[in-house]
Amino acid sequence: MSVFTGREKLKLGFGLMRLPKKEDGSIDREQVKEMVDLFMEAGGTYFDTAFAYPGSEEAIKECLVDRYPRESYTLASKLIIPPGSDIDEESAKAETKTSLERSGAGYFDYYLVHAIQRGNYKKYEEYGIWDYVKGLKEQGLIKHMGFSFHGDPELLEELLEKHPEAEFVQLQINYADWENPGVASRRNWEICKEHGKPVTVMEPVKGGILADPIDTVKAVFDKEGTGASYASWALRFVASKDNLLAVLSGMSSVEQMKDNLSFMKDFKPLDEHEEEVIRKAQEAFDSDKSIPCTGCHYCTEGCPMGIPIPDIFTVQNRKKGSPEFRTKREYVIVTQGKGVASDCIQCGQCEAACPQHLPIIELLEGCRELEN
Ligand code: SF4
Ligand code: SF4
Repeated sequence: MSVFTGREKLKLGFGLMRLPKKEDGSIDREQVKEMVDLFMEAGGTYFDTAFAYPGSEEAIKECLVDRYPRESYTLASKLIIPPGSDIDEESAKAETKTSLERSGAGYFDYYLVHAIQRGNYKKYEEYGIWDYVKGLKEQGLIKHMGFSFHGDPELLEELLEKHPEAEFVQLQINYADWENPGVASRRNWEICKEHGKPVTVMEPVKGGILADPIDTVKAVFDKEGTGASYASWALRFVASKDNLLAVLSGMSSVEQMKDNLSFMKDFKPLDEHEEEVIRKAQEAFDSDKSIPCTGCHYCTEGCPMGIPIPDIFTVQNRKKGSPEFRTKREYVIVTQGKGVASDCIQCGQCEAACPQHLPIIELLEGCRELEN
């Protein structure tokens, strides 16, 4: 049923959302080149960028597109209408031209309607984005169309019924969200299977949370004594599923690339015992009270008070996890020149934009204690 050519030799895809940064905040392109070379040498092909990832499309032009034959890799990008944004139809459609110019790729192998959820799916319909993307395919500017999804199973069913032209779906799947009702990793993956749509996985390490999980989760893996990284457990859990096109890991360093390649190059699915270990880690994760923010920043752009929401959540989580953490100092640093938790006017913009469906207003109320 899949329309794909099977070009993706490695299940690991290189997610370009969290590229390494230099001290001045710019993307460390020399390090990205090294990562690209390691990935390509190992047989990797799938690169995943987006209009919405700052500096990512430009960086991949220099680090990949200008350095490798076009047919040696596949490149995905995405068109976004952020939930709650007042972007007009013309500007939304103009994103494709900008993405093609920034990346210099000539065409995208995969092009996605990005981050669909209840807060924006009607806008995509209203602006005729599905037909527009179909038109891009007819013009040869993209090879395959799909969508990335952060909504509930009912909405996913509805979209797949309505848009059979979508050839694949990008879903958030990781062991911590497998049964999380807010994300519904398992059910959404099953629905894609039922509809014969291959899945590209995003957030297999939950924005880095599962690469450095809470102590109780670490203890479950440490007990095994294998020395395998926490990230490797998370990625192997996802990559052991079937009906996958690629598992994207948003890598931020050469070390992360090397670690991922060490177990993804000659991939072995989890065995029965390892599946049991993951079940225990899921239980430990479920009993944790940390804020499960992935740091994607979709919430911050439209905040009228300029509140650095994910940074505040990080401080709050670290405070809970470590009594010695210098909370007050960190809080002052992350909020310098910006809004603080108590500045929130409860407009709700951030909650409509959050792909993790976090009750941000309530969580920020809990973070006010950091100001004392
Ligand atoms: S609800 Fe608060 S934090 Fe969220 S966008 Fe509005 S002001 Fe910012
Ligand atoms: S609060 Fe939600 S939207 Fe904001 S960074 Fe965290 S996960 Fe992303």
